[in-house]
Amino acid sequence: MPIHEVSLIKPENIIEHEELIIDGVDVSGHWSTFIEPRAVTDYNEEMEKEISGLAGGEFIHRCWQCGSCTNACTINAMNSDFNPRYWIYLIRMGMEDELLIDKDIIWQCVSCNKCTSACPRDVNPEGVMKATAHWLELKGHTPKPNSMIFDEGFSEQVFKTGKIEDGLVLRDFLSKSGQSLNQPWLISMVFGLVKKLPLTMLTRLGLATFFRPKTRDWGNARAAIEEYVAEKEVEKHQLLGLDGHQQKDMENG
Ligand code: SF4
Ligand code: SF4
Repeated sequence: MPIHEVSLIKPENIIEHEELIIDGVDVSGHWSTFIEPRAVTDYNEEMEKEISGLAGGEFIHRCWQCGSCTNACTINAMNSDFNPRYWIYLIRMGMEDELLIDKDIIWQCVSCNKCTSACPRDVNPEGVMKATAHWLELKGHTPKPNSMIFDEGFSEQVFKTGKIEDGLVLRDFLSKSGQSLNQPWLISMVFGLVKKLPLTMLTRLGLATFFRPKTRDWGNARAAIEEYVAEKEVEKHQLLGLDGHQQKDMENG
């Protein structure tokens, strides 16, 4: 698996002598550059298996490192450190410490799926980014990212009612992520909607805030979904070797 745009040589391992003469030949400066050997001893051989066991990470093994995902990526265009191809390489190699250097930006994936469209191997790089962010959180390397708080609130509402009420999803997200409802962008969006939407639709939206819509006869579907989710949670925690206490600690933040 080639590495094109990221170097694994750490700057502190590059040694140069300002003044060095060997056998009468001046090899000072970059002529004397050498790289100190580096032995990686802390491979996490389970990392690919663990991340591929989380939703979205299933096809990571297909990656052939072409770089099309990174080339197409919306976030990479703004920050070249955001590099799905490179992270997939590190995960498959088990280089956990290298991955952890970027742990605070992996969650920034905006799910635009340009990478997914560009990928010739159907790896689903967007899913791998989500699975990796989730893995980082489950392993205690990062707090729960806002994108995951949003996804959980969204799913919870679908599981409960079989429907989505946008206002509730938004309020729930802002409250759980510790943000106030008094966001300037939200206020301007609400005023924009009030001006543009027909009265009937506004009334429907207002009523849905107080009387939450539900899918009729949703009970059986809900029970089946909850059973499935519970099974998947157990599988996930077994795969990552997390015990019940760790699971509870993480759920409580
Ligand atoms: S889905 Fe995420 S990783 Fe893929 S192109 Fe968009 S921002 Fe980049
Ligand atoms: S586009 Fe697909 S195959 Fe190519 S590096 Fe990205 S994930 Fe791997």
